[in-house]
Amino acid sequence: MTRDNTRPALTNKNPYVLVVDDQPDLLDSLRMLLHSEGYRVDTATGGAIALTQLAVNDYDAVLLDLQMPDLSGHEVIKYVARSKPHIQTIVVSGETSFESVRTCMQEGAYDYVRKPYIPDEILTTLANALKARALRLQHATMEKALRESEQLHRYIVNNSPDLVYMLDDRGRFTFVNDTLIRLLQYDRQDLIGKHYSVLVHEEDMEAARFVFNERRTGDRSSRHVELRLRCRNPRHGVRHFDNHVLPIELHSTGVYQSDASLEPGRKFSGTHGVAKDITLRKKTEKLINYQAYHDLLTNLPNRALFNDRLHQALAHVRRNNGSLAVMFLDLDRFKTINDSLGHAMGDQLLQSVTSRLKRCLREEDTLSRFGGDEFTLLLPNIQHRDDASAIATKVMDQLSKPFVISGHEMHVSASIGIALYPEAGDSMEVLCKKADIAMYYVKANGKSGFKFFNEEMNNEFTSRVTLERDLRKALEENQFHVFFQPKVDSANGSVVGLECLIRWQHPTRGLVLPGEFIPLAEETNLIVPLGAWAFEATCAEIARWNSQGITPVVVSVNVSARQLEQADFANFVLNTLDKYQVPAKQVELEITENAIINNRKGVINKLTRLSRKGVRIAIDDFGTGYCSLAYLQQFPIHTLKIDRSFINDIRDDKSDACIVNAIISLAQGLKLHLVAEGVETRHQLDYLKRLGCTEVQGHSFSAALSAEHTLDMLSDITPRFEAHLH
Ligand code: C2E
Ligand code: CA
Ligand code: CA
Repeated sequence: MTRDNTRPALTNKNPYVLVVDDQPDLLDSLRMLLHSEGYRVDTATGGAIALTQLAVNDYDAVLLDLQMPDLSGHEVIKYVARSKPHIQTIVVSGETSFESVRTCMQEGAYDYVRKPYIPDEILTTLANALKARALRLQHATMEKALRESEQLHRYIVNNSPDLVYMLDDRGRFTFVNDTLIRLLQYDRQDLIGKHYSVLVHEEDMEAARFVFNERRTGDRSSRHVELRLRCRNPRHGVRHFDNHVLPIELHSTGVYQSDASLEPGRKFSGTHGVAKDITLRKKTEKLINYQAYHDLLTNLPNRALFNDRLHQALAHVRRNNGSLAVMFLDLDRFKTINDSLGHAMGDQLLQSVTSRLKRCLREEDTLSRFGGDEFTLLLPNIQHRDDASAIATKVMDQLSKPFVISGHEMHVSASIGIALYPEAGDSMEVLCKKADIAMYYVKANGKSGFKFFNEEMNNEFTSRVTLERDLRKALEENQFHVFFQPKVDSANGSVVGLECLIRWQHPTRGLVLPGEFIPLAEETNLIVPLGAWAFEATCAEIARWNSQGITPVVVSVNVSARQLEQADFANFVLNTLDKYQVPAKQVELEITENAIINNRKGVINKLTRLSRKGVRIAIDDFGTGYCSLAYLQQFPIHTLKIDRSFINDIRDDKSDACIVNAIISLAQGLKLHLVAEGVETRHQLDYLKRLGCTEVQGHSFSAALSAEHTLDMLSDITPRFEAHLH
C-alpha cells in the first residue's frame, strides 16, 4: 500500500510509537527495528493493554495487529479514531483480504502492511503516516490562527466608530459592519444583497453613482464623497457621512483570478467604503451658517443675506426685463421706547413688529433686519409701483394697531422709503441708497408714511450715510451755531430766560434745523460731543454777556440721554462752568423724562450733585414720556416744560386742554417752576395766563435768535415783549 519508495525524513525528532501484537517475538523484533531508527517505542501484547496505554500516553502512531485474543485490532482502530484522532494507526496483519483492508480503512486506519513485513516497508509507511499527521496538525493550527485573526478583524471592523461596508460589482451590499447597523438602525438582512440606493438620500444619488460605479482601479482610484444616508425610521431623518471609497482589486484582497485571460487583479469586483459620521459637524456648520446670515433676535435674514438675495433678484429681473422694489423701513419712536422702557422691552417690541411685518409679505419677498430698528424689504417681482404701494400700506396698517408688551401699550409707526428697479437705479448700491434717501425724506417730513424715491429728494436730502459723514465733518469744522429762544414772563413781557437751540450752517444746504440731524446724532452717539460743544458754546456766550454787564437770565441747554449716561457728565458741566466763570445758578439743564427712566441711581447722583452746586434741572417735553409722578419726585427738579403738543391742543374748544390743566395744577402742587413752550397764539397765551402759567416760550414772541441777535435783544434796556401781550 506504500505510495512511494523514498522514505520521508522524520519531522518529529523522536516519534513515539505503540506496537501492539500478541506474538512476543514479533513484538520484540519490531521494537528493535523501530528503536534503531530513532523511534521511542512502547509495546502492548493485547488490545486491552493497548487501550490503557493509549489513554495515558501521547503517541504519534500505533502499529497494530488485528487478530488478538482479548480485544481485536478493530476495536483499537475505532477507539483511536474516536478518542485520539491525531494518532496515526497502521495495521500490520496477515489478513490481507480486500474486505478486511477496506474495513480497517473505513474504521480510521491510515495504512495497511502485510505480515510477514519487510522492514523497509514498515519504516516507509510509518514515516509517511507521520508526515501526513504533521501536515494535518499544521493545517489545523493555521486554520485556528486564521479563525482567530478573522475574529479579531471582525471585532475591529464592528467596533470601528466609522461605517465599513462592501458592495459587489453591481452595487449590492456584501458586508456592513455593526456600526452601520447601529447608527442607521437597520437589520443586517435589510441590507445584505440590496442596492446602495436603499440607503442613499435621493439628492445624493448622483454623487453616489459616480463613486460606486467608478470602475477605475489603481493608484488614484480612492475617492471622497459626502453622502446623506437614510435611517430606517423615516422620523430619524438622515445622517451625514464622509465616505472614503475604494474599488476592490482582487489582488489586494489576496484573492486571485482563476481566469488567466484577465489582467490579474485589475478586474472591478465592487467597492469597499469607510464612512465617518459627520452629522454633528454638519449641524454645527449649518448653525454657524445660519448665524452668519440671520439676525438672531428676530430670526430674519440679516444685511448680508439681504444683499445676496437682492443681487440674485437683480440678475433675474435684468434677464426678464422685470421690475423689483427695495424698501427701507425705520420705526419712528423706537429709540424713545428702547431708552425709556429698557432693552428687553425694546427687543420684544422688535419681535412683535417682525411678526406683523411678516403678515404683509408674499412668499417670494425677503424681509430682513439691518440692525437697530431698521428693516429692509425686497419685493423681487412686481408688475407696477402700485404693488409696492399696496404692501407699504399694508405695513403701515399692521403697525398702526397698538402693541401691548408686558402690560405696556405702545404706539409705533414707520417711515418707509421705496426704490424701484429700473426707475431709481439698476445696481444694488444705488437702489439701497435711494430707498434710504426716500425713507429719510419721510422721517424729516413728519414721519409715519411711505414715499417712492424721486430725483428731487436726491437734491434735497442726502442719505443718512452722507449725513453722518457731514455731521462728523461739521463738528471738526465748526459748522454749528448756538441760537437762543427767549422765555418770557407773560405778566409783563420781560425776558426771563433763554433756551439754547443748536443750528447747523451746512456748506451747501444752508441752515439746517435740529430735527434733521439730532436723531442721527443720537443714533451715532455724535450727540455726546455735539451736546458738549453746545453747552460750552452757551457758557462762552453767558460769559460774554456777563462781562458786558447785561442783567443775567437763566439759560437752559438741552441734554440728551446719551450725554447723561456719560460717567463724567457732572464733572464736565462743573468744569466748563468753572472754565468760563459762569455761576451755576445761571444754567438750567433740560432733560426728557425718558432720559432719567433708566439707570435711575446713576442719574439721581449726577443730577443731585449738579443741583447742590446750583445748576437747575428742567423736565423737557413733559407729559409725552412714560414717567409717573411718584418717579419724578425722586429727582431734584426745578422746572416742568409743558410739551408743545399739549399747548397746540389749546384751541377754542376748551375740553382739549384738560391735560394742560392737569399739568399746571400738578406743577403748582409740587411747587415746581412751569414753562409752556410752543406758544403760538393769543388764545393759547390767554388760556395759560388764566391758569397761572406765567412763563412762556414760542413763536408768539420770538423764534430762536442767533447769538448776535440775542445780544442785541438782551442789551436793549427794556427788552420787552410787552406789545405781544396786548
Ligand atoms: P425742544 O427742546 O423741545 O425745543 C423746542 C423746539 O420747539 C425748538 O425746535 C424750537 O425752535 C421749537 N419752537 C419754539 N417755539 C415754537 C412755536 O411756537 N411753534 C413751533 N412749532 N415750534 C416752536 P428746534 O430748535 O428745531 O429744536 C428741536 C429739538 O432739537 C429740541 O426740542 C431739542 O430736543 C433738540 N435740540 C436742539 N438743540 C439741542 C442741543 O443743543 N442739544 C440737544 N441734546 N438737543 C437739542
Ligand atoms: Ca428743550
Ligand atoms: Ca421741548
